Amino acid sequence: MYVSVVLFTADLRLHDHPPLRAALQGGRQVIPLFVRDQGVLDAGFAVPNRLAFLADCLRDLDEGLRRRGGRLVVRSGDVVEEVCKVAAEADADEVHLAADVSAYAQRRERRLRHALEAEGRRVHFHDTVTTAVAPGAVTPGSSDHFAVFTPYFRQWSAQPLRDALGAPRTVRVPEDVASEDLPCRATVPGVSPGLATGGEREARRRLTDWLRSGVTAYEEGHDDLAGEATSRLSPHLHFGTLSPVEVVQRARAADGPGPQAFVRQLAWRDFHRQLLAARPAAAAADYRAKRDRWRSERTARADIEAWREGRTGYPVVDAAMRQLRHEGWMHNRGRLLTASFLTKTLYVDWRVGARHFLELLVDGDVANNQLNWQWMAGTGTDTRPNRVLNPVTQAKRYDPDGTYVRRWVPELRGVRGGAVHEPWKLPGLERAAAGDYPDPVVALADGLARFRRARGRD
Ligand code: FAD
Repeated sequence: MYVSVVLFTADLRLHDHPPLRAALQGGRQVIPLFVRDQGVLDAGFAVPNRLAFLADCLRDLDEGLRRRGGRLVVRSGDVVEEVCKVAAEADADEVHLAADVSAYAQRRERRLRHALEAEGRRVHFHDTVTTAVAPGAVTPGSSDHFAVFTPYFRQWSAQPLRDALGAPRTVRVPEDVASEDLPCRATVPGVSPGLATGGEREARRRLTDWLRSGVTAYEEGHDDLAGEATSRLSPHLHFGTLSPVEVVQRARAADGPGPQAFVRQLAWRDFHRQLLAARPAAAAADYRAKRDRWRSERTARADIEAWREGRTGYPVVDAAMRQLRHEGWMHNRGRLLTASFLTKTLYVDWRVGARHFLELLVDGDVANNQLNWQWMAGTGTDTRPNRVLNPVTQAKRYDPDGTYVRRWVPELRGVRGGAVHEPWKLPGLERAAAGDYPDPVVALADGLARFRRARGRD
C-alpha cells in the first residue's frame, strides 16, 4: 500500500485542500501531519493568542479527520526532521504541502525538498492553498511583483480561479504512526479574554452567516468602528481554516457592491503575499527607505509604553489599543489610526509597532502585518507615503457618537456624544468625571511638525 504524508501548515482545514486531495489519489493511505515547529517557537512567533487559536484548529481538524475514519498526527521538533522521520516510519513515498511566501517558509521548502529527495521521496508544493491567486501568477511585465495595488487588482480580478474542492469522504491513516497529545486552549497562559474560537467548523459557520447577512452592508459599513460590520474572518484566513479560493468564489456569487468591496479586501491579502514572496526581506527592512531616523525603544520609551497600554490621551487610539489587548484583534480602521499615530505622530519605528501587534493579534501574519505597517509608515507601497491620519478628525468620522470609545475606555463612559473624542476640551466637571484619563502625550501640531521635519517636507 502506498502512503503519502500531508504536512498541514497554514491550511488547517479539510474543505478545498489540494495537498490532501492529491495525497489521497489512487486510494492511498495518508498521514495528516502537523509539526509544532521549534523554528517557529524560536522565532517568537508562537504567542498565547495564536497558540490558543491554533489549539482549537488542531482539535477541530482531528475531529473532522476522525469523522472520516482518520486522525491527525502531531509531532514537535524541527519541521524538516520530523517530516523525514514520519515519512521513514511509514515508508511514505511522497509528501504534499502548501507553498507559502515568507522567508521562513521559502527556506523550509528548500530544506524539505533537499532532505526528502535525498531519501528518494517526492515532495509536492501546492499553489492556491493559502492565496486565491498564486504569488507570481500575475506580474506587471517589468518586475517579478506588483508594487501598486490598483493594477494588481485589475489583473488579479481577471484570473480564472480553480474550482473549490469538497472535503474528502474517507481518510485512511496507517495505524502504527504515533502522535503526541493535541494541545489544549485551556492550558495556554496569557490569552486575551475576548479571543475568538478557532477551527474549520466555526470558520465555515462564520463565513456562511457573513455571506447571508453581513456582506451586503460591507461597502458602507466597513469603516464604522463601533458597527461590527466586517467579517472577522482574518484569523480563519491566517490559519487556513478557510480557503481563500472558496471565500472569493462564494463572495463573488453573492454579487452587489458589498461583496465586491469585500473581494477587493481579499485581493489586498494576496497583494501583500505576492510582494513578500518576491521580497522576503520586506518583513524587516524598509521596502522603500525614506532615510528615517526613527525614535526607538531607547529614545521614546514613555511614548511607546503609553501607546501599547492605550493611554496616549487620544481616546480613539486608546480604544483601539485596548481592543487589541482584550480580543487579540482590532478593527482595520483602528489598525490604520494606531499605526499612523505611532509612526507619524510619535515618529517611532514601524518595527516597534509591528512587533507589538504580532505579540497580540490572533491573525498576526508576517505578510499582512509587516506590509500594512510599512504602508502606513510610508516606507511601503502607499502612493502617498507622507499622509498622516488625524485621530480626532478620523474619530469624528468613523465613531461620530463615540460608541466605540466608550466601549473600550471606561474612564470616558460618562462623557456624552462626540465630545468624548477631545476630553482635553471638556468643561471642568465632565473632565473631572473622566478620572485619571491622561492628557495627550503630544500635541498633534507638534507631532506633525516633527514628522514633516524628519521627512524634509517643511
Ligand atoms: P474584512 O474587512 O472583513 O476583510 C476581509 C479579509 O480581507 C480580511 O479577513 C483579510 O484577510 C483581508 N484584508 C482586509 N484588509 C486587508 C488589508 N489592509 N491588507 C491585507 N488583507 C486585508 N491583517 C491580517 O490578516 N493580519 C495582520 O497581521 C494584519 N496586520 C495589520 C496591521 C496594520 C497596521 C494594518 C493597517 C492592517 C493589518 N491587517 C492585518 C489588515 C486588516 O486590518 C485585517 O485583515 C482586518 O482588519 C481583519 O478583519 P476582518 O477579517 O473583519 O476584515
